[in-house]
Amino acid sequence: MCFRPDTRARRLWEVNLYAMRYLGIKLLLLDADNTLTKWNDLNALPEAAEFVRTAKAAGFGVVVISNNHADRLEPISKQLEINCLPDMHKPLAKKTKAFVESIGLQPRDCAVIGDQILTDVLMGKRLGAHTVLLDPIDLTHEYKVTKFNRNIERLIKKLWKI
Ligand SMILES: [Mg+2]
Repeated sequence: MCFRPDTRARRLWEVNLYAMRYLGIKLLLLDADNTLTKWNDLNALPEAAEFVRTAKAAGFGVVVISNNHADRLEPISKQLEINCLPDMHKPLAKKTKAFVESIGLQPRDCAVIGDQILTDVLMGKRLGAHTVLLDPIDLTHEYKVTKFNRNIERLIKKLWKI
């Protein structure tokens, strides 16, 4: 099944870094909206910021892979002192694959972590990375297309009991 996540966690800060290390993961590719921040919020949640600090201190590379634009991602990049890659066209994996290869890693060295099956998990699967599906932080404000995708995702989650 092409978009069943490999790992499920409720929140980013509940992702088990020991398990990631055991799987051979070197680079965490994080989603921004509803993973690090509330939707369209400029600041990462304190727990998410702490997770990023811990992951970096443990030797993981951490990069934000987002479909959002550079001006939206810049504050997160500054706050967390990590690179944020904008306009990545998830669920397409082409740009992410090019980035991963440009830093000398393989897709299997990476974990894609995000809250959407139809963008984050699907991109991760296409890339050939480990995929981690989170629950979205806040569903009250989202793009119309995301709200539409959520209905499909709810159905998939129910069918697969994930
Ligand atoms: Mg998201």
